Amino acid sequence: MNTIDYIYRFDPKNPSIKPPPPDAEAAKKTLEDGNRMFATWMESCRTSDVSHGEARYVVQCNGLEVGMLRQHGSLPKQAPFAVVVGCSDARVPTEMLFGQGFNDLFVIRVAGNVMGDVCMGSIDFALTALSDSVKVVVMLGHSGCGAVTAAVDSYLMPMKFWSKSISPMLRSITQRIFVAVREAANGFKEVWGPDARLMPGYREALINSAVCLNAAQAAFDLRQEVERAGKWEIEVLFGAFNLHTHQVCMPLDPRAEHDPEGVNLAFAPTNPRDFQSLAIQMAELLKPAEVSKTKSSKTPTTPPQPAGDDELQESRKHRR
Ligand SMILES: [Zn+2]
Repeated sequence: MNTIDYIYRFDPKNPSIKPPPPDAEAAKKTLEDGNRMFATWMESCRTSDVSHGEARYVVQCNGLEVGMLRQHGSLPKQAPFAVVVGCSDARVPTEMLFGQGFNDLFVIRVAGNVMGDVCMGSIDFALTALSDSVKVVVMLGHSGCGAVTAAVDSYLMPMKFWSKSISPMLRSITQRIFVAVREAANGFKEVWGPDARLMPGYREALINSAVCLNAAQAAFDLRQEVERAGKWEIEVLFGAFNLHTHQVCMPLDPRAEHDPEGVNLAFAPTNPRDFQSLAIQMAELLKPAEVSKTKSSKTPTTPPQPAGDDELQESRKHRR
């Protein structure tokens, strides 16, 4: 395994080296490209394949934005192009995994990336005070999320949820994830059958699906907030960071290997059907081999409606 040089590069002679993305589409691409580069580099270090490119990961920073070139007394203006709501998990460093630096992202991190009043207040601030620069809002979940795991375990073993060892504050985080867990469980019942929860691997699969549904739910709520604020030009996106591949994607396949094409941020759901589609898509993705055999020999299955970009884009068109 090779070492990683992760470098923030400031060039005082060329302070405007990295112009901000002009619109939502460009902002989405900037985040996806940043993550693709980061994940590819992490992979090349893991596999010791560093034959192509420089043996460093470099994030270009605009010297003006961090105040390196400021006049006496003046401060750099805050101008992030994206708001990112992510989990507090220490293994998911927001700026780093998107390949971004100073003044690029307005980041809110809370366990389980749940949307509470205070979190929503921070987003409201960004939408109001930073509306000149913000182009996208991103809800980011991740594989192996402890908060989602706690919610799934409480869902499967309700007595655990009411245990005295869980503080009321912690319980309030778990509670906000239950809707996503329930939606995910419905997807498994539909695809795996009524005895889904008795099947091997069910808990792990439920956690992974709930991570996606939880991010989708929060993105749906965020979209409504953005619309309430009348910011129609701001796009709301969601994704999940895979701790294994270091890639941000939707849906999340925990068994996936690194794939340069595997990075994507999805558009926020616009109606409840989108959640159902995503739950079924995840249940299909994580289906054990024995379920596939049973299904194909006993019942003709209806193919699931994928909750991919195309469908979500389409429903957004209808809404507008
Ligand atoms: Zn987490």
